[in-house]
Amino acid sequence: MHDTQLMSGTELARDLVERTTQRARLFRERTGSEPCLATVLVGDDPASATYVKMKQNRCRNAGIASRHVQLPTSTTTEALVAAITELSRDPDVHGILLQHPVPPHIDERAAFEAIAPGKDVDGVTMASFARMSFGDAGFVSCTPGGIMRLLDHYDVDLAGKHAVVLGRSPILGKPVAMLLLARNATVTICHSKTRDLPSLTRTADVLVAAVGKAEFVRGDWLKPGAVVIDAGYNAGNVGDVAFDEATTRAGLLTPVPGGVGPTTIAVLLEQTVDAAVSAMR
Ligand code: NAP
Repeated sequence: MHDTQLMSGTELARDLVERTTQRARLFRERTGSEPCLATVLVGDDPASATYVKMKQNRCRNAGIASRHVQLPTSTTTEALVAAITELSRDPDVHGILLQHPVPPHIDERAAFEAIAPGKDVDGVTMASFARMSFGDAGFVSCTPGGIMRLLDHYDVDLAGKHAVVLGRSPILGKPVAMLLLARNATVTICHSKTRDLPSLTRTADVLVAAVGKAEFVRGDWLKPGAVVIDAGYNAGNVGDVAFDEATTRAGLLTPVPGGVGPTTIAVLLEQTVDAAVSAMR
């Protein structure tokens, strides 16, 4: 039988969060207050509400305070920008997370850009993207950051490898492509207009699937022995890669759930403590 090794994001995240919890405790001992993450949720989408709750719970367990701003679906771009600007100016708030997506009438980009660069712990602003792309210190988009942690943890050597990224969203496909490029991979970015995806993915030493379509990537799209990162999270806890088929070809593979997801939150918590420590200086 073919031997695919699973990449456990759950295990890696446990280690990362443990370290972050210790740093949060040190911060509290030094300053008398906890690092604080503000979450902003617009509307009443149950999935988004669950994600925000989960992030708040993880914060609490790590000794990070959270502040929540809940706004109605009818919120205007101006009102959302004003609420985020207030958090950006509040010295007791160290990190700000605007839950994506916002209702369609809102200019999400304008709202993201109201996050002060020093508090952009979710790595969504253009300033953070530019810093990351230029290799400067700053906050990375959390899911791409978690993916790179996984690749490092499993000793994946990226230099000279062909990395194929499926998806080009500003929070996932594009930033992960830049991070892979910075590590000297040769990167191909695919999207909905790309022709003959399977012929491209079959040349991938490293494949990152970030499409948002359940089991979109089939087993015979994979190069034997490839490192396959499934960033997708679709209804029914299903990834973007057909898991059972992938285990007949991949060398390393992230499961869904328990792969990329836990590392995303771990990076969010880590960057919140980073922001708090930087604000103290
Ligand atoms: P998104 O904004 O909807 O972007 C999807 C991307 O996939 C787009 O670039 C789109 O191309 C491309 N695409 C769509 N259909 C395609 C096709 N048939 N062939 C090739 N490319 C296609 O999604 P996202 O926010 O990046 O999220 C992607 C997935 O990751 C979702 O399942 C989401 O739930 C998951 N996710 C997981 C985490 C986590 O923490 N684990 C975090 C964020 C997202 P165009 O640009 O041409 O439209």
